[in-house]
Amino acid sequence: MHHDPDCLFCKIIEGKIPSQKVHEDELVYAFKDIRPWAPIHFLIVPREHIASMEQAGPEHARLLSHMLLLGPRLAREQGSNPYPDGGYRLQINTGTEGGQEVYHLHMHVVAGARPWLKS
Ligand code: 5GP
Ligand code: ZN
Repeated sequence: MHHDPDCLFCKIIEGKIPSQKVHEDELVYAFKDIRPWAPIHFLIVPREHIASMEQAGPEHARLLSHMLLLGPRLAREQGSNPYPDGGYRLQINTGTEGGQEVYHLHMHVVAGARPWLKS
């Protein structure tokens, strides 16, 4: 499995940098975002170092479907309000204009507020 020794999220996955774990399994590690946008905000990160969605291909289909299906389950476990009045947001920022800051693929899971209506 590919790792990048200079990558922040690789270091978090390896436990070299502390994080607040939400979930882990053989494919992904999930942890709370250090600067949350909402009461519930965590990241689902592949254990494999993939820089962004631009490097994802058909060989990652199982990983990507796992991330997509895990988001709602973990959002509920973390206390998101029930659908449809509650709900959650799943977001993968890609590239500079896509708002990506950390170049290790990750999916934001945000719930418990509607921050896009503020400011
Ligand atoms: P991006 O903009 O790349 O989609 O999101 C990167 C996210 O990683 C940001 O929301 C940021 O707050 C979060 N983040 C950056 N550094 C750390 C860190 O050291 N620990 C944790 N838990 N989150 C981080
Ligand atoms: Zn990485």
